[in-house]
Amino acid sequence: MATNTDKTVLVVNCGSSSVKFAIVNPVDGRVFVSGIAEALTLDDARISWAFDGEAKTEQMLGSGADHARAIDFVVDTILAGHKDLLDSLVAVGHRIVSGGDLYSQPTLVDDSVEAGIEKCIPFAPLHNPAHLQGIRAARKVFPGIPHVCVFDTAFHQTMPEYAFRFAIPEKYYTENRIRRYGAHGTSHYYVAGEVCKEMGADPDNFNVITCHLGNGASISAVKNGKCIDTSMGLTPLDGLMMGTRSGSIDPSVIFFLCDNMGLTAQEVCKILNKESGLLGISGRTSDFRGITEGREQGDEKCALAFDMFCYRLAKFIASYYVPLGRVDAIVFTGGIGENSYRMRRRVMELLAPFGIKLDVEKNEAALVYKGGRGVISAPDSSCYVTVIPTNEELIIARLASEFAK
Ligand code: AMP
Repeated sequence: MATNTDKTVLVVNCGSSSVKFAIVNPVDGRVFVSGIAEALTLDDARISWAFDGEAKTEQMLGSGADHARAIDFVVDTILAGHKDLLDSLVAVGHRIVSGGDLYSQPTLVDDSVEAGIEKCIPFAPLHNPAHLQGIRAARKVFPGIPHVCVFDTAFHQTMPEYAFRFAIPEKYYTENRIRRYGAHGTSHYYVAGEVCKEMGADPDNFNVITCHLGNGASISAVKNGKCIDTSMGLTPLDGLMMGTRSGSIDPSVIFFLCDNMGLTAQEVCKILNKESGLLGISGRTSDFRGITEGREQGDEKCALAFDMFCYRLAKFIASYYVPLGRVDAIVFTGGIGENSYRMRRRVMELLAPFGIKLDVEKNEAALVYKGGRGVISAPDSSCYVTVIPTNEELIIARLASEFAK
């Protein structure tokens, strides 16, 4: 339990039909309670949570319960009887998927910031409305402490214009703000900083490629702590192949599906976001563990999905030698990046022409580093390659705690 010297942050992460929450000590990363409300607005809306070291509890929230009801439940029911924890809260950190080009830093919430998040709804139509509900509900129940928005897009705001513009007529950028915004910025920022510390490198002279590989996947080129290119675009559909998302695709595929197959734009959007990627190629699963198992059992479609994932990732990494010039480190993070030594081995093999060399044993040993970390490159590799578990809750807690009085 929290002691009276603990200062904690409530981290709130609202999805379209879910709210994840955690109370975190931003200094040492201890999590006192965490949970998730799911199926919000549906008949079986429910919430589950666990206090540190205790078993998980689950409860129905009542038919149609929304984000506000979930946040009220956290305060009125879960935290009732935990005055120490409530008293220890010094800030609330809200994860926000898109701040467009309006926010390049964690930002203290006020009414104008709520309006800014609303303005960015076209770039995150499922997430930003949910974030607003979460912010409004949390501001009501915690009026006395700072609420801080941590934007997934913020870290990518340092990209130069030649990297973030699409080669389409200018008016779509100036009038409609259509450009590359990126995603997973909090994770890229965190692992880029961590690898620099791990190597004892000079942060002002350090180039790293960060690979966040989970159900959603993106890669960034980071120079001296600043993002200079990233793979996700206007929305998190661009770039690498993902669990159910296609990643980069010839736009003509979309016109072909609409014009020749009679599909609507909405139907194509669903195909590219929900039915493609690992799922679309394997016809079996969007889960990388399932892909790996299928491949081991001789399933050719799973083997193809694995090959495509690794090939496309290696090509992206290779392309970031152009913006960076010199690459000091490559970091793998996210569920796939942290756990799949097979994927890392294949990608490193494809990058051999760049002088990157894997330490095969260390790479496989990194499996046991679950929740830990480990260098996986050989001593004579041209660049340092490492695995660093991401921890977005901790980063949001740290960034939000900087606003506490
Ligand atoms: P995330 O979105 O970061 O939670 O990552 C989820 C992805 O990580 C899913 O595709 C999982 O299959 C994958 N993953 C988790 N554990 C493993 C593992 N041991 N080996 C391969 N992939 C894994």
